[in-house]
Amino acid sequence: MRLSKKVAAISNECVACGACEKVCPLGAISIFRGLYALVDRNKCIGCGKCQKVCPASVISIIDREEQNEKKEILV
Ligand code: SF4
Ligand code: SF4
Repeated sequence: MRLSKKVAAISNECVACGACEKVCPLGAISIFRGLYALVDRNKCIGCGKCQKVCPASVISIIDREEQNEKKEILV
């Protein structure tokens, strides 16, 4: 399977509201232990729907290669 060029990245300021998890059409987001959102990068296609609904504006849609270099915000 070919991975998308773009992928969602979520900063550690996530407030675990769950809005992104609900809206993701691919089920690529889960809320880890009620603490913060995790993105499954193998499922995410970088569509940006999660970014639009995040009340805390902590989701970015970035190049997958850039994400690979930012392991600290990786999920
Ligand atoms: S960018 Fe799209 S596919 Fe990726 S986590 Fe957000 S809603 Fe899901
Ligand atoms: S919508 Fe934003 S604040 Fe809410 S869980 Fe997702 S990333 Fe965190």
